[in-house]
Formats: sequence, structure tokens, C-alpha cells
Amino acid sequence: MSFEQYEIWFVTGSQLLYGTETLRQVNTQSIAVVNGLNQAGNLPYKIVYRDTVKSAEEITAVFQEANSSGQCVGIITWMHTFSPAKMWTHGLKILQKPLLHLHTQFHREIPWPEIDMDFMNLNQSAHGDREFGYMTARMKKPRKIVAGHWEDSDVHERIAVWMRVCAAWSDAQTMRILRFGDNMNHVAVTDGDRVEAEMKLGYHVDYYPVGDFAAEVARTTDAEIDALMAEYEKRYDFAPKAAKHGSKHQQVREAARIELALRKILRETNAKAFTTNFDALHGLNQLPGLASQRLMNDGYGFGAEGDWKTAALVRTLKVMATGLPGGTSFMEDYVYHFKGKGAILQAHMLEICPSIAETKPRVEVHPLGIGGKADPARLVFTAHEGTGMAATVVDMGNRFRMIVNQVDCVKPEADLPKLPVARAFWTPQPDLKTAAHAWILAGGTHHTAFSYSLAREYFEDYAEISGIEMLLIDNETSIPDLRNQIKLNDVYYMLNK
Ligand code: MN
Repeated sequence: MSFEQYEIWFVTGSQLLYGTETLRQVNTQSIAVVNGLNQAGNLPYKIVYRDTVKSAEEITAVFQEANSSGQCVGIITWMHTFSPAKMWTHGLKILQKPLLHLHTQFHREIPWPEIDMDFMNLNQSAHGDREFGYMTARMKKPRKIVAGHWEDSDVHERIAVWMRVCAAWSDAQTMRILRFGDNMNHVAVTDGDRVEAEMKLGYHVDYYPVGDFAAEVARTTDAEIDALMAEYEKRYDFAPKAAKHGSKHQQVREAARIELALRKILRETNAKAFTTNFDALHGLNQLPGLASQRLMNDGYGFGAEGDWKTAALVRTLKVMATGLPGGTSFMEDYVYHFKGKGAILQAHMLEICPSIAETKPRVEVHPLGIGGKADPARLVFTAHEGTGMAATVVDMGNRFRMIVNQVDCVKPEADLPKLPVARAFWTPQPDLKTAAHAWILAGGTHHTAFSYSLAREYFEDYAEISGIEMLLIDNETSIPDLRNQIKLNDVYYMLNK
């Protein structure tokens, strides 16, 4: 995964009134700002200066070009001078790419002895950006506003977050999710309106016949399996039974066979995410546990039991987190620990991404109580300590709601020698009782997309760009406030369908 193919276009607003000399300086200073941002070193990819626009025609033209550009995934605007905002109406109306309004000024400080009218005319974003702000507010244009001097690192950081979200948003517009099997029978929260999801969030939810998957598995060769087994041996420890000559070694080879087929199918269909279902494995030896873990580690989105919304969200978070330390995984709330502030043991039947592992994962083979298949291989490990975000998207009937909980991962209080699956152990902020109450009040899933690499601002930017509802649960959360927020949001989404 890389951001190489993406760029952000920077458009400076002005008008012809100022004359050539001033506009020349506006242009020079805009180039300096863009160069400064690019050279700051913490932006994930390039910002391209696309000129100073001075008329409605120029604005509409550059936004039209942005809409049809494959590279441009977002627009930054800055009103260096006063740019009467009626000029922006048509451009803003057609703009389909995410928008960031950078509210800055070329000079950091007022040069007290020198300031004259010429200087004032060149440093008037204070009112130029307010004019633009009125138009975006009146048009209810989704946008991120970043205010501050363009050389400040906090400004760079906020732009960088948005750029990562823009890349993930662009990625989602061409995301195909393959489902092997349907949703688990009768399960409500992981299902939803797939047509609406494509309209609203961009991704396409498809299916892939399990029989064809099994046929692809049957086509794999021993040589391919040997090569993949060599990679496993290089990267992981092995439990004695799973190791060469162990009684369960053959099941690891079967898992490798499944991984080979699954990779091939995902590559050939250009899919970026997939779901499985333990109840829909006809013709397969075992539930694809190890394969799902390793594919997630390579950037694929994953959701268990047909959970396509979480599969999409895992992929989206992985794109946002490209190159950042921490790790991102599919996750499930499993068992509570009602002690002190409380904590939750997080795991799944098998499918947790090794990107969050504290130590070298270990290949193990154990029976699985459900599904009626042979014992599946899996990577077993414990997630490292640190603060992260657990998120889900649910379909409320008239809107998608994203619920995000900030969580603090800690070491389990003791070893878990009998637990045969990868796990994390975390205290959800502000404490287990409040967080669980809030999550259930909001209708959140048992499945989440979890990341150590992302803070709340990523989710806020994603919600702003997509227009979906977001509820945050963190140290500031109080149940009465959340209850009121949900009621207000109900009205908001009724009025803004
Ligand atoms: Mn599950």
C-alpha cells in the first residue's frame, strides 16, 4: 500500500481588482506556502499548486478538472486576498472532491514599524477567508477548516490527517468487497442496505461463490504450498503440533492452500476487502483463519460472518494508517473483566491481524466448536499496549452511524495458556460501564475495526467527507449528553436526508 498515486490540489482565491503586481505577489506567496507544506516532511503525499483563481470561470474550470482527475483526491482553498464568494458558488456546487479550507496568512506577525496599506492588501485572509467561509457554510458544503500559520507543525498535522482520510475516501470509491457466503443467519447489526452503502460510502459489495473458491483451492500445487510454508516458517513460531512432523501440520498446509487460492481470487477480481462465514464453507477443509489474518496484514479489509461494513471499515482504516506505526485489525468484543475501571478481552474465532501483535505470532491448530469443519490453523499472539480507536458503522434505516470508542490497551493480568486465539485486552474510555452503556445506547456492533494508528480527528474527517453520523465515546462522554446528541441527530438526519 502506498500513497504515490495521490495528490491534493491547492487553489488560491483572489480577484482581478488588485492589479497585476499584487496578483503576482499572491502567486509567489502561494507557491511559497505550497512548497513550505510539501517540505514540512510530515505530509503523506504531494500538494500541487493549481494557480490563483480570479473569476467564476477559472474556479469552475479547476474544480471540473479536479472532479475528473484520478490523481486529485482533495482540494485545499485559501483566500489569500479578498475573493468575492459569489464567484465560488458554481464551482462549489459541482465540486465532488473533499475540501479543506486553509485559513492562514503569509506573514506570521505584524511588522509594526513597516506596516502600510500595501502590506494590508497582501495580508487580508482574515477577511477574505471569512467571505469564503460564509459561502461554504450557507451551501452546507462538507469541509475541514484548518486555522493557523502555514509553517506551524500543528497545522501540518491536521492537514496530514485529512490527506490520509482523502486517500482512504478515494480508495473506497473503487473498493470491491467479496463475500464468501452471506451474513450469519438472523444477525441484524452486521447487515444493512448495500445499495445505500454504495451511494453514500462508495464501496461495492459483491459475492463470490464458495464453490468456485473451493475449485480454486483444488487447483493449488504442492510447490506453491511449499513456498508459502517456507514463508510461514520464516515469519512465525510454530506450536509443536503445528510444526513439521507434528500431528496437525497437515492442517497448516491446508490453510496455506486456502490462502493461495484466496489471494489469487482477490487479485483477479481487484477486490480490496472480503468476508467469510464459518457456516458457508462447502468444499473447504477449514475456516480461512490464518489466510484472513495474513491478508489483513497486507492491507485487505476483513469482516467475519459476512460483515461487509466492518470489512470496508478495516480497509479504510488501513489506508488511512498507511506507513504509520501501531497496527489495524478486525476485532470483536468477547469477554468482560469487571474489575476496577473494567476491561474487555478482544478476540475473534481466529481472524485478528498480526499488525497489532506485541510478539512474534505463533502458528497453532485447534478445533473450532462451530462450522463442522476440520481444525483451522491460526496465528496466536497478544496485542501490544497503547491507545487506539475501535469503530463500527451501523445502518440506522435512514442513515449510517459510525460509533467510535477510544480505548486503552493494557497487558492481560496473567498469561492465557488455554486461549487458542489472538487477543487484545483494553479498557474502553471513560470506563467499561459507561463505554459499554454508551455503545449499546448507540446500537453499536460486536465487531469493530480497530487501529492504534489513528486518533479521533481521522474519524471526524471521514464523517464530514462522507456525511454519515458519528458518535464518539471517550473520556468526555456522559450518558445524558450522548442520549441528547442521539435525539438531536435523529432530527438532523430527518431534515437532511
Ligand atoms: Mn464475529
